[in-house]
Amino acid sequence: MGLRLGIDIGTSGCRAAAIDAAGETVDSERVAIAEPRRDSAAVEQDPARWWEGVRAAVRGLTGRIDAAAITGLAVDGTSGTVLVTDAEGEPLAPALLYNDARATAEGAAIDAVAPPDSPARGAGSGLARALWLLARHPEAAHLLHQADWIAGRLTGRFGHSDPNNALKTGWDPVAGEWPAWLARAGMDAQRLPAVHPAGADLGPLDPAVAADLGLPATARVGAGTTDSTAAVLAAGASEPGDAVTVLGSTLVLKVVCAEPVADAETGVYSQPFGRYWLAGGASNSGGSTLRAFFDDDRLAALTPSLDPEMPTGLDYYPLPARGERFPVNDPEQEPRMAPRPDDDARFLQGLLEGMAAIEAAGYTRLRELGAPTPRRVMTLGGGARNPAWSRIRERALGVPVATRPAAEPAAGTARLAPAEGI
Ligand code: ADP
Repeated sequence: MGLRLGIDIGTSGCRAAAIDAAGETVDSERVAIAEPRRDSAAVEQDPARWWEGVRAAVRGLTGRIDAAAITGLAVDGTSGTVLVTDAEGEPLAPALLYNDARATAEGAAIDAVAPPDSPARGAGSGLARALWLLARHPEAAHLLHQADWIAGRLTGRFGHSDPNNALKTGWDPVAGEWPAWLARAGMDAQRLPAVHPAGADLGPLDPAVAADLGLPATARVGAGTTDSTAAVLAAGASEPGDAVTVLGSTLVLKVVCAEPVADAETGVYSQPFGRYWLAGGASNSGGSTLRAFFDDDRLAALTPSLDPEMPTGLDYYPLPARGERFPVNDPEQEPRMAPRPDDDARFLQGLLEGMAAIEAAGYTRLRELGAPTPRRVMTLGGGARNPAWSRIRERALGVPVATRPAAEPAAGTARLAPAEGI
């Protein structure tokens, strides 16, 4: 029976997961990789560390499973982490990670020419970091995203990407092209990768790499995706109306849509998602606000004392600081988390109710913009561990809430891997 391999490469580790024909995870292996080098605004990492992580994770996995049955692989990586290489894929400098904040001048140049709803705007976009790197390495043959480079190492052919990774580098997924305004921002399109639909066949493994990793040389590599899209795939979202809430440091909402949805004002945009689109928005509320009051152990200890069927009526708007982006863009919005009751459990319940109200308003906002009404909401991130919060959200959202705290991006990405070898 055929197996498919997904590789999730991040900043602190790499996970490889194998799924069977039914989409079930057969086995997975994670290895840590050396932390990036931080120096004020700079956050850099040697791509060689990524490859060591991939190699260790895949070899660990292939040593335990029926590796000869592997038909294909695909890779997801951190959105917005970029590097420059020569024609052979050799990095010319350390990669700039998604949170490297040095590309301020480049961000301003982009903002002067990019459309108002482009996800590539601002100093924080992958495009800004790409321009920063290319200005310092004009000899570069390829500008690549983290996942592109790993896929290139696997096939031995560089210069290929997918629409999810390319989005924040300026790719226009509706027109299906690198837009003309990129040249006005200073980008030489010759350096940019060819963009293939996620899962498109990029060709067979390099034979030497296959031998080294314990993989059959017949296995093929599919175009990959970003870490966050991989998590949505792993959560099981597939059809319009499937929604995914990520309860991490922030509150991220996503809905599968038949048509793309965007709103520059509230930072809503859509990712290509198979033949559909994944519309999303992010509130500043979320787990980092909780963490300002309670550590994870205290959250877990308080949770059994919550009573989701008895709302507190506290009407909070939890925020870590002034300013909200979505569902309503209001830089002046103040956090509303008072009065604070003496009872910590009651206070926590008020915070969770406030966040559930923001989540409900967020799905309403997405629907106003053209997204379907969620028919079920899958939940990812640290907050998915809290059953009381799930019940509070179910009441606020009026649809079933499922939790997927263990959904692994690597298993989601494995679904993009080619199902038939050569
Ligand atoms: P990220 O990857 O965005 O940093 P995680 O998905 O790791 O975030 O989730 C971490 C967040 O989950 C923390 O901000 C924390 O407040 C929250 N969290 C952890 N445990 C619980 C819990 N039992 N109930 C509610 N929230 C929790």
